Amino acid sequence: MPVSDRDYDVVIVGAGPAGGLAAITTARAGLRTLLVEKHAVIGEPLCCAEGISLCGLNDNIPVDRRWIDADIERCVLYSPGGRQLRLHHPDAGYVLSRRRFEQGLVDIAAAHGCDVVTNTEATGLVADDGGRFRGVRLQENGRAYIAGCAVIIAADGIESMVARWAGLDTLLPTDRLDSAAQFLFSGVPDLDPTRMEFYFDTEIAPGGYAWVFPKGEDLANVGIALAPAVAGSRKAMPMLREFMKRRFGAAAPTPLKRTVGGIPEFCGRKFMLKQNVLVTGDAARLLDSITGAGIANALWSGRLAGETAVEFLRDGRGDLSILKRYPERWMAARGRQMRYFLWARQIFLRMSNADLDAVIAATGALYNDQTVTAIDPIDVIKKALRARPSLLRLARHVVW
Ligand SMILES: Cc1cc2nc3c(=O)[nH]c(=O)nc-3n(C[C@H](O)[C@H](O)[C@H](O)COP(=O)(O)OP(=O)(O)OC[C@H]3O[C@@H](n4cnc5c(N)ncnc54)[C@H](O)[C@@H]3O)c2cc1C
Repeated sequence: MPVSDRDYDVVIVGAGPAGGLAAITTARAGLRTLLVEKHAVIGEPLCCAEGISLCGLNDNIPVDRRWIDADIERCVLYSPGGRQLRLHHPDAGYVLSRRRFEQGLVDIAAAHGCDVVTNTEATGLVADDGGRFRGVRLQENGRAYIAGCAVIIAADGIESMVARWAGLDTLLPTDRLDSAAQFLFSGVPDLDPTRMEFYFDTEIAPGGYAWVFPKGEDLANVGIALAPAVAGSRKAMPMLREFMKRRFGAAAPTPLKRTVGGIPEFCGRKFMLKQNVLVTGDAARLLDSITGAGIANALWSGRLAGETAVEFLRDGRGDLSILKRYPERWMAARGRQMRYFLWARQIFLRMSNADLDAVIAATGALYNDQTVTAIDPIDVIKKALRARPSLLRLARHVVW
């Protein structure tokens, strides 16, 4: 099999948010970087509601306004009994155009010298006798070749094969994988382009929630995520149609695009590193276990993986222990909150509609219509437990 024209310092598989930011980080530091994407168009096909907090984006990359479809200033959480938690925050976050965002990241990486190939699929890894990986097998329109490299960054999303080729058993049982369905709609009635809506109800979305995320005056992502562990045989798409009837009644908006996808449970650091393969974003199962949000975690992990690859290569001794800094740094930055979310999820999955009503009413009494500039999810969880002490009975199910 022919080897690519040139070897690289780093090959990154997947041009989502994790891969894009990893590529910017290594290329900007002067590393010879190849970014590989199997689809023809960066950011397509999309399976995401595109919401991100302000810090999730700004802490990782200076914002380009062309990436933003909506600036979010308020969030409303609806309980089954019609209670509301209305949070105002002048800079709560954004709804992105992920297609423009991801293309934007790739453009920045390319401007720093990163080679980008689309329509090219990674099909395997090449290891040496010592088990260290020396390259990535690629397939481009029937042409197979190997891109040699010193470090591989797996940014190939939920279905990651790179992590598995490296020897990590990332397959999750179905009860640790939420299922989601979404429509992009135009002509959405009662749409406030600055407001995100979240609906909690064990009948509408068992173990999850439904959402309406605006993408301007007229467009919105409307979706649902549910946990098979409590939803049983109920499926996301029919349940989404039920939710749409409740939310829109007869005034059905026009569906433009339909997507279904999976949201894996956070698995700690165990899928983040194998030899000289650094695994990022959804490939490493780095998603918030309550919200299902993964874009910010993908960006954080892509950046930290890139920074660690730079240190490893600048050191020049090939000392693999340097790469261990990547999961350590990520856990130091995000681990505490991610673990709290995972524990909170174990309680959340067992909450009844009465529990949801009580928690949303109690937290609403504290926060409603106030401008809350710093929403600490851990604080919200504590307040919810204080308001509904009987929830503590569910805490016995939490595995610490
Ligand atoms: C319905 C739904 C709604 C969601 N909504 C939100 C939300 O509102 N906010 C949020 O933060 N998160 C959301 N998420 C999660 C979010 O979409 C992911 O966490 C995020 O996309 C992860 O980024 P990533 O870079 O790790 O992977 P991805 O974005 O999945 O990118 C992986 C890339 O790798 C490419 N690839 C895969 N295999 C190969 C290969 N062998 N060779 C070459 N390329 C390959 C893919 O084509 C893809 O471009 C949602 C998820 C779902 C399912």
